[in-house]
Amino acid sequence: MPTLVRISEIGLYLRCPRLIYFENLRRTPQKIDTKHLLLRSLMLSFSQKNDLEGQLKENLARLEAELPLVYEIEPEEMEPACRELEGEIAGIAQGLAGHLDHLLPCLAEVDLYSDRLGLSGRLDRLAPGSTPSLIRTGKAPEDGIWKKDRLMLAGYALLLGEKNRTHINQGLVEYPRLALVRAAQIHSVDRARVLRIRDRIRLIKEGQLPDRPEDAPCPACWAADICETRHSLASRFF
Ligand code: SF4
Repeated sequence: MPTLVRISEIGLYLRCPRLIYFENLRRTPQKIDTKHLLLRSLMLSFSQKNDLEGQLKENLARLEAELPLVYEIEPEEMEPACRELEGEIAGIAQGLAGHLDHLLPCLAEVDLYSDRLGLSGRLDRLAPGSTPSLIRTGKAPEDGIWKKDRLMLAGYALLLGEKNRTHINQGLVEYPRLALVRAAQIHSVDRARVLRIRDRIRLIKEGQLPDRPEDAPCPACWAADICETRHSLASRFF
């Protein structure tokens, strides 16, 4: 049976297909981004619609104590990240107040997999109406959502749809720092793209190094050195 392709690998593939190849070779785990982990954990920590600001403050104090026990986080990174986020809590709570009916009640970090689809993944939030929701700690596009997130939502919609024997047609992307929650339609064409990308990822994981895309984000890439020295099968022949 072929190994399951993770939905997060679809996001990685869209950044650069070669990253799938190099991640597969990587021996040491990726360094944890403390600020990202903290904000994501905080966003998954509230469960009530009243006094969101109070809940977030209380949960931040708990996360400050607990996260270093669970993850390898340097103490000197944790404290400033918590103080920075503390200063943002009032704005985040105010911005999210109008979206809580779309976000709660929810299940957090839902593991999904399907042998039939050859896909697996851990969904950030399963919102009301079996709606998949992603938490993004970075920038939002001017309108709508990024292509990567659209396809990742389509991947989760496939998994949820198979599990619940239904079609999931809508997803959410949460941008807590920007006080935004954006809804996005999930189209059949995106579901089909996910399956095509799944097949390409399988080939890469079997050892096929893809060509360098022209628009690859190489300057900020951790794999730049090893990537420079590897040539794809195609470039060896032509
Ligand atoms: S260096 Fe560029 S081409 Fe190579 S893996 Fe990184 S982003 Fe992709």
